[in-house]
Amino acid sequence: MFKRSLRLFELWGIAVEIHISWIIVLLLVTWSFATGVYSSGDAGTFSDAQSWIMSLLTALLLFLSILLHEFSHSVVAVRNGLPIEKITLFMFGGVAQMRREVETPVVELKMTAAGPAMTLVLIGVFYLLGLLFSSFGTLVVLFNSLAIINGIIFIFNMVPGFPLDGGRILRAIIWSRTGNILKATRIASRIGKGFAFVLMGIGILNFFISRDFVGCIWMLMIGAFLMQAADRSYKNILYREVMEKIQVSEIIKSDVVAVGLSVDLLTLVEDFFKRYNYLSFPVVKDEVLVGIVTLDDVNKIDNGRWPETKVSDLVNRNLADFTVRGFNPAGRLLHLVNTGKYDSFPVVDNYGSLIGVVARSDFEEAVRVMASAKN
Ligand SMILES: [Zn+2]
Repeated sequence: MFKRSLRLFELWGIAVEIHISWIIVLLLVTWSFATGVYSSGDAGTFSDAQSWIMSLLTALLLFLSILLHEFSHSVVAVRNGLPIEKITLFMFGGVAQMRREVETPVVELKMTAAGPAMTLVLIGVFYLLGLLFSSFGTLVVLFNSLAIINGIIFIFNMVPGFPLDGGRILRAIIWSRTGNILKATRIASRIGKGFAFVLMGIGILNFFISRDFVGCIWMLMIGAFLMQAADRSYKNILYREVMEKIQVSEIIKSDVVAVGLSVDLLTLVEDFFKRYNYLSFPVVKDEVLVGIVTLDDVNKIDNGRWPETKVSDLVNRNLADFTVRGFNPAGRLLHLVNTGKYDSFPVVDNYGSLIGVVARSDFEEAVRVMASAKN
C-alpha cells in the first residue's frame, strides 16, 4: 500500500512522503469544495477561478494540518528515544513509520496524545483566524471550513478503536492497568473493527436512503481500511509475543538429511527429492553447512545435463538468507518464513555445524497453537 510514494522534504531527520493515493484525495477535496462550499452561501459571489483557487488552498491547508498532527506524534516519539523514519501521507490520512515498537504504555500515551492535541490547537487557530478576518468573506469561509474539518477529524480520530488515536490511547490505558499489551491490543482492535462495521453499515444505509453512491463507496473503503489495520495491529503484537516464547530448539528436527557438494543432480533428484518429498536440502562439507539446494534451482537445468552437473554448481551459498541459529528465539524464523522462498531452514550451532532443520509447516503449526492458546 505504501509503495508508490514521492519524497517531498526532510525535517529534523524525518522524511515526508506523499503516496499517490493522496493526490486523488487532494483532487477530490478540491473538487468537492469548488462545487460545494465555495459555490454557495457566503461565498456565492466567487468567480469560478476564485472558487477553484480557494478550494485548492483549503485542500493544501488541510494537508498541512494532517502533517502537523503527524509531526507532533513524531517529535514526542523521537524525544522518547523512538526513531521515526518517515511520515507518509496517503488516502486516509498520515502514518509515522517507527523503526521500533513502543515499549511502555506511558510513552505510547504521550506519543499518541500529541497528535489530537495538535489538531485541537489547529481548530483554535483556524477559528480565531476566522474571527480576525470576519470582514473578508472569502477568508472567513476558508478558515471556518478548516476549523470544521479539523473538528471532524478530531472526533473521528478519538473513537476508541484501533488503529485510530483514540484506540491507541485506550490501549495504553488498559496496558498500564493490566500490564498485558496483548489483551489491551485485542480490546482496542475489536472496538476498531466494530466501528469499521458501523461505518460501512451507515454507508450502505445512506445509499438506500439518499442514493449517495460516491459517499457509500467512500465509507466502505474507509471501513475496510480500518478493519484491516485493526486486524493487522493485533496480529503483529500477537506474533511478537509468541515469537519471544518459541525457541528454535523446540521445533527443530534433528534427523536431518543433507547432501554433499559432489553429488550429481540425477542422484539428487532420485535419491533425495523423490524419496523425501522436500523442496530443499541443506548442503554440507565435513558436517559444516555451506549452502542450500532447491528443487526449483534443479529444474532450471535441462535434465539431459543432470548426470554431469554437481550440487556444487548450483548451491546457494548465501547462508544469511536461510540459516537459523539453534537455541535462539524464533523471531528470525518469522522473517525467513515471510520471504517465502524455502520450505525448510537449516539450523546451525555456534561453529556452523548443521544440527537440524526447521520445517516451515512445523513453525507455522507451533505459532498457530501458541497464538490460539494466548487468544
Ligand atoms: Zn494521529
